[in-house]
Amino acid sequence: MKFSIQSRNDSQSNELMGLAKNYLQDFGLILDELEPDIVISIGGDGTLLHAFHNHVKRLDKVAFVGIHTGHLGFYADWKPSELEKLVLCIAKNQYRVVEYPLLEVNVCNNSETTTYLALNEATIKSPSVTLVMDVFLNDRHFERFRGDGLCISTPSGSTAYNKALGGAIIHPTLRAIQITEMASINNRVFRTIGSSLVLPDHHTCTLKPVRTQEFTMTVDHIQLKHDELESIIFRVAKERVRFARFRPFPFWERVHDSFISNE
Ligand code: NAP
Repeated sequence: MKFSIQSRNDSQSNELMGLAKNYLQDFGLILDELEPDIVISIGGDGTLLHAFHNHVKRLDKVAFVGIHTGHLGFYADWKPSELEKLVLCIAKNQYRVVEYPLLEVNVCNNSETTTYLALNEATIKSPSVTLVMDVFLNDRHFERFRGDGLCISTPSGSTAYNKALGGAIIHPTLRAIQITEMASINNRVFRTIGSSLVLPDHHTCTLKPVRTQEFTMTVDHIQLKHDELESIIFRVAKERVRFARFRPFPFWERVHDSFISNE
C-alpha cells in the first residue's frame, strides 16, 4: 500500500510526520506523494482541507485520515498518542471507508464553465459594497439577496464557517448542501428568506449578479480569481470524499466533544 503525509508544518506535526513515515515504512508501506492509497493529515481540520485539495483529482482512489496536534477536529480525530495504533491498523488494512458528500461549484462566464469541489464550503462576498445577487432554486427565481455574502456548505462543512453564521449542523450521511446568509439586509423594501436552506442532491442553487460589482469567492481555504461572472451553480457533487475509519466515532459524538465538552 502507498501512503503520503500532509503536515501542518509546525514542529510537533513535523516530528509526528517523521515518526509515522518510519513506522509505516518499517511495515513495508511505500511513501508516494503523487498516487497514495491513503493520506495521513497531521495538524488540524485545516490541514486536511489542504490534503483534500492536493488529491482532488483522484478522490475515488484515495482515503484520508487525520491526526490532530491541536484540538479535536472533525476530520482530524486521532490523538498524537495513538500514532502507533493507527499505523498498525493501516499496515494490517484494518479499516473501512466512509464516504461524505461534496459541493460542486460551477463558475460560468461567456459560455465557459470552471468547476471546483469543496469539502467544507464556498463563499461569495463583495469586498467593499453590499453584495446583490439573484438567487434561483432549480432555475426558478427565489429572492434577490442583499447583504455581506452567502455561504454554501457541505454536511461535513456545516460545523465550520456555516455554524459560525448560525446555519444548521447536518449529518454527513445526508446528501445535501446548505445555503446560509451573511448579514442579509431585511426591511420594508428588501427581503430575503432569513433562514438557512437545505437542498437535496437533485436540486441546484444558482446565483446571478444583478449589477457589475467586485466579488471575492472562496472554495474552502482557496481564494478564487474570476473578474467577470455570469452565474455560479451549486449542487451536491457526484464525487465523494473517502475517509478511512478505524473505529466508530459517531458524528454527533464529535459534535458534542468539539462544541459542548470533551470530558
Ligand atoms: P483555518 O484556520 O484552516 O480554519 C479555521 C477554523 O475552522 C479552524 O479552527 C479549523 O479547525 C476550523 N475548521 C475547518 N474545517 C472545519 C470543519 N469541517 N468543522 C469544524 N471546524 C472546522 O482557516 P483557513 O485556512 O481560512 O481554512 C478555511 C476554513 O476556515 C474554511 O473552510 C471555513 O470553514 C473556515 N472559516 C471559518 C470561519 C468562522 O468560523 N467564522 C471564517 C472563515 C473561514 P482546525 O483548527 O482543526 O484546523
